[in-house]
Amino acid sequence: MSETTDPDEHTVEQLQDELAGIDSPRELEGMLDAEKDGQRRKTAQEAIRARMREVGPAEDDAVEEGTETEGEYRESADEVEGDDGAAGEPGDAEGDDADDLALDPAEYDIAEFGPAIKGVDDSEELEAILAAEENGEDRDNVETLIESRIEKVSEVEKEAEGDIDPSELSTAELGNALQGIDDEERLQEVLDAEQAGENRDAATNLIQNRIDSVQEEEAPEEIEVVPPEEKHPDLDHPTADKQYVKAIENGNYRDMWVYCETQAGELIDVSKEMLGKARALMDTYNEDYETDERVVAVLIGSDVEKHTEDVIAYGADVVVHHEGPRLERFQHKPYTELFCDMARWGGDPTADEGPEEADWREYDEPRYTVFPATNNGRDLSALVQGELDSGLASDCSDLYIEEAMISNPVKTGRPGTKKEFERVLHMKRPDFSGFEYSTILCLNNPTREFHPQGASVIPGSFDLPEPDHDREGEVVDHDLDLEEDWLQVSVTDHDQLDEGVDLTGHDVVVAMGRGIGDDPTEGMELGLELADAFEDCGLGVSRGIVTGSYEFASHIERYTAEERQIGETGQVVEPDLYIAAGISGAVQHKVGMDESETIVAINTDPDARIRDFSDFFVEGDLFEVLPELTAALESGELDVGAVAADGGKR
Ligand SMILES: Cc1cc2nc3c(=O)[nH]c(=O)nc-3n(C[C@H](O)[C@H](O)[C@H](O)COP(=O)(O)OP(=O)(O)OC[C@H]3O[C@@H](n4cnc5c(N)ncnc54)[C@H](O)[C@@H]3O)c2cc1C
Repeated sequence: MSETTDPDEHTVEQLQDELAGIDSPRELEGMLDAEKDGQRRKTAQEAIRARMREVGPAEDDAVEEGTETEGEYRESADEVEGDDGAAGEPGDAEGDDADDLALDPAEYDIAEFGPAIKGVDDSEELEAILAAEENGEDRDNVETLIESRIEKVSEVEKEAEGDIDPSELSTAELGNALQGIDDEERLQEVLDAEQAGENRDAATNLIQNRIDSVQEEEAPEEIEVVPPEEKHPDLDHPTADKQYVKAIENGNYRDMWVYCETQAGELIDVSKEMLGKARALMDTYNEDYETDERVVAVLIGSDVEKHTEDVIAYGADVVVHHEGPRLERFQHKPYTELFCDMARWGGDPTADEGPEEADWREYDEPRYTVFPATNNGRDLSALVQGELDSGLASDCSDLYIEEAMISNPVKTGRPGTKKEFERVLHMKRPDFSGFEYSTILCLNNPTREFHPQGASVIPGSFDLPEPDHDREGEVVDHDLDLEEDWLQVSVTDHDQLDEGVDLTGHDVVVAMGRGIGDDPTEGMELGLELADAFEDCGLGVSRGIVTGSYEFASHIERYTAEERQIGETGQVVEPDLYIAAGISGAVQHKVGMDESETIVAINTDPDARIRDFSDFFVEGDLFEVLPELTAALESGELDVGAVAADGGKR
């Protein structure tokens, strides 16, 4: 071997450049030996062999049985042939049995050979064909075709086998490639090759981590399950430790359940919106999974039976209802007990003797549950989902069902692996003041099932569906004696609240937000003064004011109540002029006002989101800007009609 071409000193890429300049078969053989004794990179060995084929055997070194050269050529072929030798013996053209070849090159001219060779997908067979050609007609163009086919097929095979040469890959590529290798020995080879070669810290760590995770996979850690009563003797409710609750195992879950809330005896709009959405979701679901799961509407209260036809018209296949004179008003305990009893159908699916058979359902618990994010719906959803030992995504604004590929080890049970979960309800909800949407998933753990997957839905998130009064459905009467214990609260008297404040229909709306924080009472007073300066103006607030813990002087308090809230869960206004002072522009606020003709925002933060959908943006302190605006209006200096008519073009 030439002293200048020690493969150990080269990356495969460098080696390929080097090889182009080496014409000596003996030197190439030496290099091949050195590579085999050294880094053992398959790609490097292939490159050397390819060059060996190009230069052919030395003139003075005729291939005789037993010579070193013949041995080497034979060895290289053996490596790719495997033990059966079915591909024939290269180097022995006469000995090649053409019948054993997947394709005999001698039978093809070059034009026919190109398409034919594409039908061979096995690198061993291809090597044998190459050898047959080299020892037979030895046409350069045919050999090039075979070699390029070998290269392509080998790559595919290598990928499939997880056979990788780290020196050819960036760390990121290596990370991806390692995911396909589950064999510890092979991973160890990759690690050895990396350490003998470039020995990059990041690459070495990646390989080592993969080895660790494969070892863990092989011997998964036993989770010691301690009964909750033993683990937390001080707790009176063992479900506090969810991981060890006795959960349903291999449970049977079906259907989407919708809690249909009524208020003052009427089915509220959000119940209809949810039924419409549930119908659409389950129609697609049934098509996708070729099944027939249903929308189940739940009605609880007194005189709710009258709604059964309606809920079927809005999309339910089944209505389960519980009537009771003592259930006229929503109460946490009895409503929760009733819903859960319906969901489990009269028994505990984890008990030795499960629930009694019901003729309308054959499953342990609902697959999905949906509740309205109203005051009562929020309470009920949290209690029911907790009682059923599952989770809840509250205040959602969208739902869809899809597969989810998850790598979190809490869910997969094994670090470094991925697992696909089917039929997952994706529950989208606004977070961080509505500037960000999160999608919540409720997934089983390896040792624990979480069903139903439950959500509460913000009213108005889905369209009100058109009722179809021709729809047919099943009505199920639920029966359960209410325990006295559940009914500790009784309503002795009640009053209907006033209609509240209607902010719609005004020419102008001034809305105040948390920017008043430095002096909340004064901030609201300044807003009121500005509103008074207009002929027809209402004063509204952001939810930030309603839920904030500001202390207002008593004469101001009534202007900060929920009835004046503008936005997704408040009123939707479309005045000619909307003045937002100290409001950031969260999406839930935006949807309540962005149809206004002209929007003016006053904010100290030039990057406030509201700027994006305002016609005029005043960067400034509302405590300074509002009095100036009021004064300009009162003196007639500011022509609001012109501002509004201008629509932000100035
Ligand atoms: C399910 C759900 C429903 C919701 N529904 C609604 C809804 O219907 N309506 C609604 O409004 N919100 C709603 N929200 C809340 C919403 O996400 C925001 O939290 C809320 O709108 C923020 O109110 P804000 O803009 O007043 O307060 P912040 O976001 O705190 O913004 C205050 C702004 O005032 C500015 N500022 C501070 N000091 C001054 C000053 N001296 N002068 C001028 N500017 C100043 C700041 O730069 C900031 O931009 C909902 C949230 C959820 C999760």
